Amino acid sequence: PTPGLELPEHQRICVCVRKRPLNQRETTMKDLDIITILSGSMVMVHESKQKLDLTRYLENQTFCFDHAFDDTASNELVYQFTAQPLVESIFRKGMATCFAYGQTGSGKTHTMGGAFSGRAQDCSKGIYGLVAQDVFLLLNSSTYKQLDLKVYGTFFEIYGGKVYDLLNWKKKLQILEDGNQQIQVVGLREKEVHCTEEVMNLVELGNSCRTSGQTSVNVHSSRSHAVFQITLKSRGKLHGKFSLIDLAGNERGADTAKANRKRQLEGAEINKSLLALKECIRALGQNKSHTPFRASKLTQVLRDSFIGQNSSTCMIATISPGMTSCENTLNTLRYANRVK
Ligand code: ADP
Ligand code: MG
Repeated sequence: PTPGLELPEHQRICVCVRKRPLNQRETTMKDLDIITILSGSMVMVHESKQKLDLTRYLENQTFCFDHAFDDTASNELVYQFTAQPLVESIFRKGMATCFAYGQTGSGKTHTMGGAFSGRAQDCSKGIYGLVAQDVFLLLNSSTYKQLDLKVYGTFFEIYGGKVYDLLNWKKKLQILEDGNQQIQVVGLREKEVHCTEEVMNLVELGNSCRTSGQTSVNVHSSRSHAVFQITLKSRGKLHGKFSLIDLAGNERGADTAKANRKRQLEGAEINKSLLALKECIRALGQNKSHTPFRASKLTQVLRDSFIGQNSSTCMIATISPGMTSCENTLNTLRYANRVK
């Protein structure tokens, strides 16, 4: 498969895995890299030291995906094989989604481009900025210019089954479903954007709102789903939408902290939404008429992206390379494997 803007008709769901490099802490504690990426689509997990030998193929666990990226892959490369092929679909009235799924610390936010080390116009853009760049490229192309579309950005967070507007001081929002099963996030702030830089400013604004008052960025973000949406409108009416979702850390779904009731409930909520998400994506891939979107707030707000002929999804499952993360990594790979 070649990267680019065209999506083959049949490819409505793309599932990829991205391995991050060992970090300083892991290197210092002499954690072992137990992940090998083979031939661009296979992930091999060496569950013990003895199995680091690649020739002992059968003793290692292997998983196959649409693409698998090793720790040298750039955000641009990952983008080319995941979200980029979906961008043009929203100009043809499509609904596209891109999910970053994985353990806390495995690289979800790094991939989406929500981690700011410096200025918003930093060249090390993630998926947010790269999608925005291509949206404006296509918007001004001869093919789509005459559609006279306007571009809007929204950014909200789902935490504990509740929706908070990240572009409006974390205002708590209600979700309404009308008689036609249309879902609306009531009062969600929508900002018109005219260039990539304006999109990045929104991301930065939302992120600062997301983490304000938190002791640690990762502590909070590991427990909430962040949904950034780029919407195209034609004369005020919805034309197409790209939803970019930085999911809660999947290890939280298994959080059964007995002593802490709040954590337990959070964990149960996250678990519920990630299971619902899997079922909805599977239903989309199998062209099922019934999509179980009501099972969680996350799938509810994304309902219109899971139905219809014009919906497509990509999932980037991010994994940590270390042996100390082995169990979480295997859980991530199994989940990603089941999505397709
Ligand atoms: P998550 O959002 O999944 O909790 P982060 O994206 O915050 O994880 O990543 C954790 C740390 O690892 C960050 O410091 C990030 O910069 C770094 N990191 C993640 N993925 C990569 C990568 N592919 N290459 C280099 N550094 C990475
Ligand atoms: Mg994160």
